[in-house]
Amino acid sequence: MPQQLSIAIAGAGLVGRLLSWRLLRLGHKVQLFDDGDPQHSRSAAHTAAAMISPLSEVVVSERSIYDMGVSSLAIWPRWLEELNVSAPTPVHYAAPGSLVVAHPADMAELEQFYADLRFHLGADNNARWLERRDLYDMEPDIAGQFDRALYLPDEAYLDNRHLLARLLEEIQALGGACFAHHPVNFMPEATLGEQALEGFDCIFDCRGMGARQSQKDLRGVRGEVLWAQTDEVQLRHPVRLMHPRYKLYIVPKPGNRFIIGATEIESQDRSPVSVQSMLELCSALYTLNPAFAEARILELDANLRPSYWHNLPLIEHERVPSAGAKAQNIVRINGLYRHGYLLAPTLVEDVLARLPDFTHPQTDTV
Ligand SMILES: Cc1cc2nc3c(=O)[nH]c(=O)nc-3n(C[C@H](O)[C@H](O)[C@H](O)COP(=O)(O)OP(=O)(O)OC[C@H]3O[C@@H](n4cnc5c(N)ncnc54)[C@H](O)[C@@H]3O)c2cc1C
Repeated sequence: MPQQLSIAIAGAGLVGRLLSWRLLRLGHKVQLFDDGDPQHSRSAAHTAAAMISPLSEVVVSERSIYDMGVSSLAIWPRWLEELNVSAPTPVHYAAPGSLVVAHPADMAELEQFYADLRFHLGADNNARWLERRDLYDMEPDIAGQFDRALYLPDEAYLDNRHLLARLLEEIQALGGACFAHHPVNFMPEATLGEQALEGFDCIFDCRGMGARQSQKDLRGVRGEVLWAQTDEVQLRHPVRLMHPRYKLYIVPKPGNRFIIGATEIESQDRSPVSVQSMLELCSALYTLNPAFAEARILELDANLRPSYWHNLPLIEHERVPSAGAKAQNIVRINGLYRHGYLLAPTLVEDVLARLPDFTHPQTDTV
């Protein structure tokens, strides 16, 4: 086995947990610090809908997001198989593709979506138009509302809250030490309270929006979601509804639950969901199938997506002089924006491949 490294990770959100787990599996020693309680996480990862949708996202992103997303789609099933080996119930993951729909009056929105897809990926983009009859075969409970739909194969979704809980269990089972209510600060030296974090070969800053104090170029992009439950509607695919004012998505979750989200607001505001947003989410849901009127609202949640100005993720390595005996190797992983589940496996694999560089005395930014 290569040299065993001693690693500290600040932030037990999506990136912090995945990275801890993979490092432990490679035989390294890991201490994971979170400023909150990872059992009741306030991370963006906890709020997210957890769609893994490279085709849908290429329409509003750089081509590199698509390429990394395709690579993540190949990694997720492998990782989940490993995670599920000793799990009492497996973490739900499905890759049925997704549907993009628009009501007849908004058809121009859907056509523009397809035009954008072709612009980014060319004619060879795998998307397929469905007429009402095909839609009925695929998703009968919404077919009555739409004349046409766009089917995007090779898209997936997972049960993120179960995944986060399972990762924590596995980290602890592999001997990782998890510390709740332990905020790490980077000024730029990494400290716990007044104490420098000493004795680590590498310190990863995976604090998401928590890094904003030391990284002024990080911004929050607010998202609001509603959880609903009903036995009256069955969905197998994530569905995106194109509308001139809002783009709604609905993702099925185990237990006849659905997560519905729409808004993307440039704001640092993490206050609860507004009445207007809730009305928009509910009415859009109702237009997918009126039977949603009887659904029970389980939860409303709002959170911030950690984003840089270009909406691309960054991995930055810096060697920082420390009050302790030796300099700290600090690696910041942030800016996953609305693509955490889409990108995290690929980014984590990249970080692992570069671990020898990160623990080597040199400065590097990518
Ligand atoms: C409404 C919404 C919907 C989304 N839907 C999707 C989707 O469908 N698909 C997709 O791919 N992505 C989606 N995302 C994006 C995804 O959730 C994020 O990109 C991802 O969670 C970012 O991961 P992270 O680990 O960087 O940050 P987070 O998951 O936010 O984790 C950061 C962690 O750091 C901790 N922390 C903060 N400060 C400190 C400190 N000082 N010391 C120690 N710990 C600290 C926090 O408590 C938190 O646990 C969505 C996000 C939102 C808000």
